[in-house]
Amino acid sequence: MILGARLILLGRQGAGKGTQCVRLSRQFVVPHISTGDMLRAAEREGSELGRMSKLVMDEGGLVGDEIMVGLIRERLLQPDAVGRGYILDGFPRTVPQAVALDEITADLPIDVVIDLDVPREMVLNRLTARRVCRDCGTNYVSSGIEKLPWICEVCGGDVMRRDDDTPEAIMHRLDLYEEQTSPLIDFYQSTERLTIIDGVASADEVSRRITEAVAEARAKR
Ligand code: AMP
Repeated sequence: MILGARLILLGRQGAGKGTQCVRLSRQFVVPHISTGDMLRAAEREGSELGRMSKLVMDEGGLVGDEIMVGLIRERLLQPDAVGRGYILDGFPRTVPQAVALDEITADLPIDVVIDLDVPREMVLNRLTARRVCRDCGTNYVSSGIEKLPWICEVCGGDVMRRDDDTPEAIMHRLDLYEEQTSPLIDFYQSTERLTIIDGVASADEVSRRITEAVAEARAKR
């Protein structure tokens, strides 16, 4: 039987969370819930939420806690998440979001919180070269000399720079990460739910480290 899981992945933008979440979601057969992807989907649909959050996202700011908590509450109530679990990517991003998440998951608590640790200078270079498929979200790395249009190998969609991967927005997001998101490390450490993983390694090696950490956290329960 394939076990489900309830996991949170923390880490700076560009630390490789997206790649690892896709792998973990296949491994545990649970949905990969990325709040950034949910907001970008809302933007593509042209909904009120999408219009509102686009302005904030393009500047590299954070969408309000109340909106984000509402979005996650609704998503975690869906049968797939209740039945098997989930990998949370991009949520929580502030301590108030983490407190709200504890309330939402009181009956089915999180197994483990992974902090994928990659230094700021390294993610800065990765984010500058990052290109993303607009349709399926697959990540690519730009060498700076590719032919356009760039077509996604997975789904045939357009590969482009994310609107919020401009140098100004990247710096702003990384500053906000230190300010608002890194206190989450203390929050989860103080409640003994955090495992820090060194994210400076190949994707395969990082996957191996995460799998080991999840197994260890479960064995302690
Ligand atoms: P990401 O794809 O995780 O880098 O998220 C892209 C953008 O969506 C962020 O820079 C924020 O503007 C917004 N966002 C995503 N998740 C959250 C969250 N939990 N709280 C506030 N804003 C968020």
